[in-house]
Amino acid sequence: MTGTFDITINKIQTSRVSEYDINNVPFGKCFSDHMLVAEYSDGKWHKPVIMPYADVPMSYSMSALHYGQAIFEGMKAYKNDKGEVSLFRPTENFIRLNKSAIRMAMPEVPEEIFMGGLTELLKLDSAWVPNSETGSLYIRPFLVATDQAIGVKASETYKFVIITCPAGKYYSDPIKVLVETNYFRAVHGGVGFVKAAGNYGRSLYPTKLAQQKGYQQVIWTDSTTHQYVEESGTMNLMFVIGDTVLTPALGDTILSGITRKSVLALAHEWGFKVEERKISIPEILTAHANGTLQECFGCGTAATIAQIVTIGHDGKDYDLPAVETRKFSTRVDETLRNIRKGKVADTMNWMFKIS
Ligand SMILES: *Cc1c(COP(=O)(O)O)cnc(C)c1O
Repeated sequence: MTGTFDITINKIQTSRVSEYDINNVPFGKCFSDHMLVAEYSDGKWHKPVIMPYADVPMSYSMSALHYGQAIFEGMKAYKNDKGEVSLFRPTENFIRLNKSAIRMAMPEVPEEIFMGGLTELLKLDSAWVPNSETGSLYIRPFLVATDQAIGVKASETYKFVIITCPAGKYYSDPIKVLVETNYFRAVHGGVGFVKAAGNYGRSLYPTKLAQQKGYQQVIWTDSTTHQYVEESGTMNLMFVIGDTVLTPALGDTILSGITRKSVLALAHEWGFKVEERKISIPEILTAHANGTLQECFGCGTAATIAQIVTIGHDGKDYDLPAVETRKFSTRVDETLRNIRKGKVADTMNWMFKIS
């Protein structure tokens, strides 16, 4: 780490951790003792500060609120049986945040601030990392435009912040998904490949309509032909058809998930045939009809694997093989959990040790 960004640390006087049962708190509502804040102004980043988690005063003219210059990341820290804390592939999140920053005309965050700040923050708040079988500390780094001025232009000031919250037993029940061919998550030339805040706001209405019909999520299709599947909710989409693991190829309408990348690496390592390409709805329905469609799931940091048990399309429901029969995704889920909890050798070098 360069000396330029040594971090100011204002420690909380008394930790709040004993006020919570961190293995059972509801997700996303209880935040750890500290947060990291770094400011950008006058064309440069200033010394980051770690301070007690708190609300901050804000101007209603703050540009992020009006024009959506706001991006984020989602990652997790895990605790092994020895009490050591590690992150899963954090450099990937760092690189992706800056890819998002470039697309949204925001300044890139220096590695010393992102990785160095995150390391210091986790050292301070290690007591907040659950040590249960499926628990983790969810980490939310984000970058927002803070100019106090209304007017559509790139902000001149920004804040990069990291807040964290314990995720006790994050688990996704198997989900029913509806293929959406009317509303789109992403378009060519747009921002679907980055974690821009507006992508999530725009997804809520179609998701609400699907939920009113009894589905939990939508499967997004391409906005040009409406024939090819892209993602499910805020997860990448995977299929096992015959002995092949299939996922839509990346492009500017698909978010390049770190879980996706990891699932594909495991599939390769285990000798599966892996295909990253366009996958059409007729292809999926044909595989369903002839019995070769074995697995379908979403993958992402939040749930790791969310099993899809029913696909709704054009007024019909297609039920997929029982979750208990799904060997590939079950093995992926177990393997990732074991790597993260330090129970098997980390042969891929995915874990980044904090303490
Ligand atoms: C964050 C996200 C994912 C999953 O990415 P991970 O790095 O695996 O957490 C997939 N799709 C969308 C749209 C996302 O925002």
